[in-house]
Amino acid sequence: MPETEIDTLAIVGLGLIGSSIARGARQYGLARTIVAIDRDPGVLARVRALGLADTATDDVAAGVAGADLVILCVPVGAVGAVAEAMGAALKSGAIVSDVGSVKASVVAAVAPHLPDGVAFVPAHPVAGTEYSGPDAGFSTLFSGRWCILTPPDGTDAAASARVQAFWEGLGAIVETMTPEHHDLVLAITSHVPHLIAFNIVGTAADLEAVTQSEVIKFSAGGFRDFTRIAASDPTMWRDVFLTNKDAVLEMLGRFNEDLAALARAIRWGDGDALHELFSRTRTIRKGIVAMGQETAEADFGRARPGPVPDKASPSV
Ligand code: NAP
Repeated sequence: MPETEIDTLAIVGLGLIGSSIARGARQYGLARTIVAIDRDPGVLARVRALGLADTATDDVAAGVAGADLVILCVPVGAVGAVAEAMGAALKSGAIVSDVGSVKASVVAAVAPHLPDGVAFVPAHPVAGTEYSGPDAGFSTLFSGRWCILTPPDGTDAAASARVQAFWEGLGAIVETMTPEHHDLVLAITSHVPHLIAFNIVGTAADLEAVTQSEVIKFSAGGFRDFTRIAASDPTMWRDVFLTNKDAVLEMLGRFNEDLAALARAIRWGDGDALHELFSRTRTIRKGIVAMGQETAEADFGRARPGPVPDKASPSV
């Protein structure tokens, strides 16, 4: 068995992230046995049909009982209840991890339910799509993407190293920081941008002066890219904002101040201020492309849609 291989891996929540981990673990030989745990019978049926795990169950305590590594892949608002349900069943020496998009609240919700002899190494793979469920996952989701580990003070170093090796086995690049710093960084790089997308798509949908069909028809003018983000899972994002409240509100306060400054520059015709900001933001985009975190192709490399077929013409 390679040093990085886990004997029994249990994954709780087989959605986009959980099913991608299951696929990657199998494809890259990271776990000998995979146990899938989900409360949704429809999800379990898909897990069986897709062959994502060796065992699939809705019984979280029974599912984690023999596991060496348990990864919680449920919405962050659900991790506490799952940890409570499984805590007493965990074997001594097991490692518990998660993939939640918020970290301080996950540490607070999970840690109290874990018995002595079980290590907790929280993780957040900074990778995803706007799709949900077991059919949405794919084994290369984490390839070349960052995974942030936020082990609380006193976490067993060997357990952290094991989780790091697991994520590296999935192709991720691992970085470690405190849960609080993670939440601040992700508030500005992910949570506030999602909030802006949810808000602008909601505003456009509610406009009286512009029709819904005009919004859809002319969406390529910037709006379309917001709609992809605004199509993200409602449960996941509700939980992110409820659990990372302080950091999001802090970043939102800063965002509002900068937005007010921009509005002022427009009002007073301060073209230099606008040009200076837009030049700086262009450089940030180039930096992301240079780091291999985004494609350099124009318009994200989207294929040009062909002419819209004439509904009246017969199909071939
Ligand atoms: P998802 O596709 O909606 O899957 C979540 C799965 O967990 C669903 O099958 C859900 O079942 C199940 N579940 C919910 N509560 C449960 C419970 N108490 N016990 C057992 N199963 C439960 O979600 P996801 O996108 O994979 O997100 C999962 C986690 O990954 C979240 O914490 C999120 O913050 C994090 N994350 C997401 C992304 C992303 O882009 N999506 C990226 C990085 C990290 P039901 O359908 O019955 O609710």
